[in-house]
Amino acid sequence: GNSRINMVLEEDAVSNTDGSVVAEKREIERRRNLAVISHPDSGKTTFTEKLLLYGGAINQAGAVRARRNSAQKMAVSDWMKMEQERGISITSTVLTFEHNGMCVNILDTPGHNDFSEDTFRTLAAADNVVMLMDAAKGLEPQTRKLFEVARMRQLPLMTFVNKMDRPAMSPYELCDQIELEFGIQTCPMVWPIGDGERFKGVLERDTQLVHLFQRAERTKKATAQAVLHMERDAHALQELLEPDLWEQLQEDHAILSEMAHAWDLDAFLSGDLTPVFFGSAITNFGVELLLKYFLQYGRAPAPRELASGEHIEPNHSEFTGFIFKLQANMDPKHRDRVAYMRIVSGKFSRGMKVSHSRLKAGKQLTLSRPSKLFGSDREIVEIAYPGDVVGLANPGAFAIGDSLYTGSSRIRFPAIPSFSPELFAYVQNPQPGQRKNFLKGLDQLLQEGAVQMLRARSDQGMETPILAAVGQLQYEVVLQRLKDEYGVDARLEPLPYTIARWVAPPAGSSTSAWDALDSCGKLYNVFYAKDAYERPVILLKNEWNLNALVEDHPKLELRSFMYAP
Ligand code: GDP
Repeated sequence: GNSRINMVLEEDAVSNTDGSVVAEKREIERRRNLAVISHPDSGKTTFTEKLLLYGGAINQAGAVRARRNSAQKMAVSDWMKMEQERGISITSTVLTFEHNGMCVNILDTPGHNDFSEDTFRTLAAADNVVMLMDAAKGLEPQTRKLFEVARMRQLPLMTFVNKMDRPAMSPYELCDQIELEFGIQTCPMVWPIGDGERFKGVLERDTQLVHLFQRAERTKKATAQAVLHMERDAHALQELLEPDLWEQLQEDHAILSEMAHAWDLDAFLSGDLTPVFFGSAITNFGVELLLKYFLQYGRAPAPRELASGEHIEPNHSEFTGFIFKLQANMDPKHRDRVAYMRIVSGKFSRGMKVSHSRLKAGKQLTLSRPSKLFGSDREIVEIAYPGDVVGLANPGAFAIGDSLYTGSSRIRFPAIPSFSPELFAYVQNPQPGQRKNFLKGLDQLLQEGAVQMLRARSDQGMETPILAAVGQLQYEVVLQRLKDEYGVDARLEPLPYTIARWVAPPAGSSTSAWDALDSCGKLYNVFYAKDAYERPVILLKNEWNLNALVEDHPKLELRSFMYAP
């Protein structure tokens, strides 16, 4: 039951017969995966750590923290070195644990908001989302942004309101905020009794059990918790709680029974209703309750839609999967690349031969590569099932969005969209002798999706690339990696824009996107660029300019992201 990062290695194969004896169907049914989204500092690391404890992965829990802490404190280069030593990167990885016969994959998302693009991609591979909120702060910007993506993908969303051991906003207010801002229903599964110094525990509404808050030691699983029944143990509860809290609890209980949305599994599974939990991750209070309901109601590995609109069920007889994340050069001594693949259907086994959506039909790839590069954290995967994520050694064959499959019918999952960047800068290579390395490095980093690249639209063929990022740190990582891995001292020249909009071809007409854009005449305060597929992208300085443009040219179809063609 240790947390592990699934890797495929050819050397030192350890036999892993988990599952090869168990029917494939059962393996699919017992799998649940989840991605945690939150604003930095709301306790994601702590929460993840505690979840892992339920799988008995005590050491791993420490590792999550060490990794995150260093990510926050170190300079970029140190940070990258350290991530490399651990064999895990700033980018998303997977932590797996077993609990009560279930196999849980936590699709880890980067803590730093500059890497939210990685989180977006991870959500493409996730079946469930847990949203963490800081009880004192309510919804914060990063959470809002990530919620949009979860919503777009109709992912079931559980909410954990963290830090109840600190002074908190009213739980009613927190639920209202979710309902009003996100337009979804809330169903409190537990309800807090007091907050801060007077946090006494939570009422589990379904069972009417009051779980009393006891501070557990950080590294321990919560000790057997004192649990009292609302009615049967009313007397004891009344003695235990201060009078105003006891009264409040009874009142809340009555109000919620009347007013709160009833639990509705279908609404949860379609992302229209979020069950809400309250707790304190740091003292490991309330995490187990969330886990219990997650295992009961969370979505099992889900079918995926193909680009053609058909669906692939997890129990489809052929193997299918898609690449959602690339990482390169985790060990500077070897030019290694890893591609993370989400398995959609069938059974994966090490060394299997598969077809590839971008390669000629009939051409096959073998899913295994020797590698000496991965740190001690990694384990070889012999067999994996739908819902799992497997890291494949990637000799350059894979790009984000690629589909892999067995069987004769060609399979293509839809592309994973890129999201609107907010920072733009020309990138230059001042050393003509390094041109080849510069281009090679840029190409690799673009493939990984470390940044996006645009070019100015110009008739002179001036082709200075523009790097487009969500956060400053992305730039720093790119410059650092160009230097360390490709020996290139690239320079950035920032551009004064904060918004990118793709121009889409007008619906139901044969006009091209470029013609549609040009028909608006020369636009002021707008920078004309094109993406890697020569599609028009306009850059704007601020919302004000964008609103003015939309008002003046209501027919122009603008998108904040665009799928690869
Ligand atoms: P992340 O940035 O979302 O990964 O957050 P961390 O897990 O690193 O937590 C941020 C800070 O909040 C740390 O100082 C934690 O110790 C603290 N923290 C996390 N959970 C709780 C909690 O339940 N109660 C309190 N009081 N502090 C918490």
